[in-house]
Amino acid sequence: SKNHVAHADAVTSNGAHWTALSEVVPKKKKVVLLGTGWAGMSFLKNLNNPTYEVEVVSPRNFFVFTPLLPSVTCGKVEARSIVEPIRNIIRKKNVDISFTEAECLKIDPENKKIYCRATLNTNSNVEEFAVDFDYLIIAVGAQVNTFNTPGVKENCHFLKEIDDAQKIRKNVIESFEKASLPNLSDEERKKILHFVIVGGGPTGVEFAAELHDFVNEDVVKLYPMVRAYVKITLLEATDHILNMFDKRITNFAEHKFGREGIDVKLGSMVTEISKNEISTKERGNGKTTSTPYGMVLWSTGIGPRPLIKEFMKQIGQGNRRALATDEWLRVEGLDNIYALGDCATINQRKVMEDISEIFKKADTDNSGTLTVKEFQEIIDDICERYPQVELYLKSKQVRNIVDFLKEAQGDAAKESIELNIEEFKSALSQADSQMKNLPATAQVANQQGAYLAKCFNRMEECEKNPEGPTRIRGTGRHRFHPFSYRHLGQFAPLGGEQTAAQLPGDWVSIGHSEQWLWYSVYASKQVSWRTRALVVSDWVRRFIFGRDTSG
Ligand code: FAD
Ligand code: MG
Ligand code: MG
Ligand code: MG
Ligand code: MG
Repeated sequence: SKNHVAHADAVTSNGAHWTALSEVVPKKKKVVLLGTGWAGMSFLKNLNNPTYEVEVVSPRNFFVFTPLLPSVTCGKVEARSIVEPIRNIIRKKNVDISFTEAECLKIDPENKKIYCRATLNTNSNVEEFAVDFDYLIIAVGAQVNTFNTPGVKENCHFLKEIDDAQKIRKNVIESFEKASLPNLSDEERKKILHFVIVGGGPTGVEFAAELHDFVNEDVVKLYPMVRAYVKITLLEATDHILNMFDKRITNFAEHKFGREGIDVKLGSMVTEISKNEISTKERGNGKTTSTPYGMVLWSTGIGPRPLIKEFMKQIGQGNRRALATDEWLRVEGLDNIYALGDCATINQRKVMEDISEIFKKADTDNSGTLTVKEFQEIIDDICERYPQVELYLKSKQVRNIVDFLKEAQGDAAKESIELNIEEFKSALSQADSQMKNLPATAQVANQQGAYLAKCFNRMEECEKNPEGPTRIRGTGRHRFHPFSYRHLGQFAPLGGEQTAAQLPGDWVSIGHSEQWLWYSVYASKQVSWRTRALVVSDWVRRFIFGRDTSG
């Protein structure tokens, strides 16, 4: 560790002194964190165990509040308002944290080392280096997925990083300037002002809405001569846009866009994008079309980064789309490496795999059957270890365990309830169908980062008492609870200050409140007051002066 090197240097002339020092300063465990996005930042903000030494490695020395990236593309919010320098965050911590601006190129789990390359050019030979770790936390996120569609990399815009948003903004304004030049034909103006969005997920939809607002609020005043040539097309390969949302929101959005003249083409697959044309294939009849365009935003989903693909091959997870971890966010089979956020997925354990073992533990009197009391004593442990069971009981609207067990026993009239192993199995046989992969969202990454920090905060206590007084593997007071996700709702800004919200319990609301209020429901802790103040002032400024269109 750096501290030790410093001490050793100071006392090389006095070996005895050095020994004494190393006794009073126990070596700190080294945690290496890859990434400064939602997951990484949330881990850092929640870590408060000073017995660790943390080194953050990321090519980006700032955090980005991604939900507001689309608002940067058309000038509603300033880029600097939604970033937070990492050094501002770590200097306030009581934990020893350092930052290295570099990209991790390779992970060596056996030798507990990572290999990195500095992102900044220093004109020296220090650009590639290795970093040792005791614990590694992988939070590198994901990258845009082009599905190997020809021409996408070369000709499309993406919206993932702050640079992307700024490039889009510059390109949008340049398109209007270009289209305003003299001596262009109508066809040429139409082509320049044809904006195509590929992918009807939340990002694509929000960008379409932002662009539409921009055209109607600003372009009409600033470029009135070219307004008539503007066209916005949204291409979606499946039957509906926003298909991860409730039907009501999907319908509302499709109708709103229809009214506003945004051309939503459903069942439309992009096959190729050349420098001037975008080619699509209709899903039903296979008809292909090529259309001239000015600008394309590609927003069809995410895939693993090269680092993660390579690491998955190394550890025998070659065919997966994301790094598999257990419910404690430990990479499968590796004890001291964790992964969370968009680069990882939790491999949820099935309750049916352990059902016989659970039955044995629950049957405390070894009678071969479970009484209501025995069942009640273990159900909380089961629900904690296998969250799908809790979802299952909720989905079946089980309020009364006795009725549930009577049903499992298949005899409602019977007085005493005692389940044998087969009846116990059948009671829970459908529970695993409730298992779902968590979505790749900031909300998940944020909760996972906070969860993992809590585990690290309590690590020694738990190592001293690894099993705890528990009956089911992995539960109990002294162990860490497995990660469990709390869904707080999902928002889809639809333009015109309208935001659709889908809250837990099938609550859907489409209203005129500022997006920021919605985000504050789950994001306020993540962002500093500086950022919040900047975003609000951007909105106020826009309200008074209009958008900044200087590009
Ligand atoms: P990221 O936040 O992507 O962070 C990854 C970090 O790793 C970055 O700092 C990156 O620089 C770093 N990194 C990359 N490669 C390496 C490497 N080789 N070595 C070291 N570091 C590396 N989610 C919501 O819940 N609500 C929303 O409204 C919402 N809106 C969104 C809008 C847009 C435009 C986008 C793009 C995403 C949105 N999301 C939203 C999704 C959300 O941003 C992601 O799910 C979230 O960022 C995932 O967090 P993460 O930490 O896993 O990855
Ligand atoms: Mg991260
Ligand atoms: Mg981020
Ligand atoms: Mg994930
Ligand atoms: Mg019994």
